[in-house]
Amino acid sequence: MRRPTDAEALQQMLSAALGSREPAGSLARLGRDDGAFTALDPAVLQRLTLVGGGALYNPTSPAPTARSVDDLVRRAEMLDVPQILVPNVRRTDDPRALRAAGFVPLAAGAESIVRLTGDVDDILRARVGGGRQRALRRCHDALSRDLTRERIRLSELDGAPWAREAFVELHRRRAERHGDGHNPYSAEALDALADGVLADRTEMIVRRRGDTVVQVALTVRSHNGRGLYHLTQAVDQDDPAAGSDLHAAALYGLYLDAQHSGLHWVHLGPGETEGKRRLGADLFVPLDHWLRAEGLMARQEAGAEPELSRFAASPVTTVPVPGPARSRHQPRFDTIDLSSNTNPFLGAGGSYPHLDTTELADTYLDTISKLPGHEGTGALTADHLLFSSGSVDGVMLLLAALASPGESVCVTPPTFPLYAHFARLLRLPLVEVPLRGDDLSELDTERILAADPRVTILCDPNNPVGTRLDPAQVRALVTGTRGLVVIDEAYVEFSEKPSYAGLVAEHDNLIVLRTLSKAWGLAGARCGIALAQPGIIDALRRVQVPFGFTDASQSAVRDRLTNARRALASIRHIRAERDRMARILADHPAVERVFPSEANFLLVRLHKHERVMEQLHDAGIMVADVSFLIPATCRISIGNRRANDALLAALSDAV
Ligand code: PMP
Repeated sequence: MRRPTDAEALQQMLSAALGSREPAGSLARLGRDDGAFTALDPAVLQRLTLVGGGALYNPTSPAPTARSVDDLVRRAEMLDVPQILVPNVRRTDDPRALRAAGFVPLAAGAESIVRLTGDVDDILRARVGGGRQRALRRCHDALSRDLTRERIRLSELDGAPWAREAFVELHRRRAERHGDGHNPYSAEALDALADGVLADRTEMIVRRRGDTVVQVALTVRSHNGRGLYHLTQAVDQDDPAAGSDLHAAALYGLYLDAQHSGLHWVHLGPGETEGKRRLGADLFVPLDHWLRAEGLMARQEAGAEPELSRFAASPVTTVPVPGPARSRHQPRFDTIDLSSNTNPFLGAGGSYPHLDTTELADTYLDTISKLPGHEGTGALTADHLLFSSGSVDGVMLLLAALASPGESVCVTPPTFPLYAHFARLLRLPLVEVPLRGDDLSELDTERILAADPRVTILCDPNNPVGTRLDPAQVRALVTGTRGLVVIDEAYVEFSEKPSYAGLVAEHDNLIVLRTLSKAWGLAGARCGIALAQPGIIDALRRVQVPFGFTDASQSAVRDRLTNARRALASIRHIRAERDRMARILADHPAVERVFPSEANFLLVRLHKHERVMEQLHDAGIMVADVSFLIPATCRISIGNRRANDALLAALSDAV
């Protein structure tokens, strides 16, 4: 709840539940299940504590202003309450007033939000997997057959005394089950809610078997009218349905309701996140409880901006991350956003894309950490990752952010020509140190080191050759150079040899570029990934044009990564097809040589290059003519069996 008036209504509810005029009780009682309090001195847990500036219910509340903190402190003094708790404050809120008044933050997990970015079944399939989605749906459908479901607005609860009674009774029993009997949803609390400013926006959902109430829940519509807070749910444990996943099925029903009403999100409340992730939550906002108590020491401040990389040079060192990206962690789902000059009348496309891609970054890292050859990537966090508009955009960003006029860029031809292209456009001196060896897979490390470039860009597996570089040479370069080493791993998923992503945590001069365009089949989503130490990522962010990664692309990427099985199977298939094509082409009379490939293409040297290229063109087959990089060659992407066979047939016609 982002409005103090809403938070106050919840405080009044808490007072009513505690049976006192002030919302005050011992922490031990108030925060029963809250891990945030477990490390506290038992004396602190037992002391009377005034709850202020927020509430202990599911919605979070804004950090109090200096004036409201003053009021709170005065109130505690007047009441002679020795401690004050401001619970569930977003870490992205400004805590200066709290800190100035001697409050100390205790990490309180995160609030979890299910963003309804599409059809409920589609988003659940993408986020929790098809099996779980089907189970939730099945459970929901079965319960809907057995139980009735009513929605009663809280301001009209007087007309349904049986529902009020059942709500109170089920919550009383739930509180009893949880130990100390503290019940924040007592009759008094419910009445306070019904008498307060939230009543018109609050609904009770009741499920009955015959005349018996089996489940009750409360939801509050957000003040911006775009989402629902799920406040509470209690189930009759004696009912046969209690054995099934009644809680989750009820949430599934809530998502359907919300979507039907045109809402954009459902808020599942604070606390542990894993269970809520399994319920479809995809936005997690870290929270702190702020406590003012005698003897509490301030903990080390977490989440401070990383120190900028030593490779960042003026003016990148002095400019901030551009406005919207600077406040990217600031959640906007429950505010009324009149800050962006957009048109609200034409649907979801009218909003700018989400900028907080932390969750998606974690999903990407989690996905690649399970791939073979990705040891060490478990040490990377979302701070090591920047999404860009394709990986070539990453090259442009890093050259702009990390190379100053006069500093040279080294490339190793034959390689992907865009590196040299961008260096030239940015007016950076270019050093070309050709690859050596029969397979064009050896670096001339000595020459590269002697040139002392600011940035060396390697492509591994290399486009257009398809070979991998010698890892010992790559490592020697990373440790030996004074400059940065960039490794473009656009095709690494097709290779049997390891990625360098796992080395990023160890080397502050290493940047690994990846993409969703190749193995992951999402070239249209324009999603590249730069992996580097946080100080480099911060520098890149200062240069990046915000909003390049659209919501549609984010959603496609999330979908692909969380349902990776199909993509991984296709990679295996492409590898097998590549090896088959390599064998056939090697014996083909039109072909002089097939280079070894660890990518999804083959570099082929032709006997009669020009004639074969013409013939393929006439057959309506496009391959990449890379003879401008390596004489008499073309690069053939591995397609499906039919396309590959068509190519072989056209080649045969050419001889
Ligand atoms: N790097 C290499 C080596 C490539 O071959 C390509 C695509 N041809 C890219 C990057 C571009 O990838 P993206 O679509 O992510 O910009």
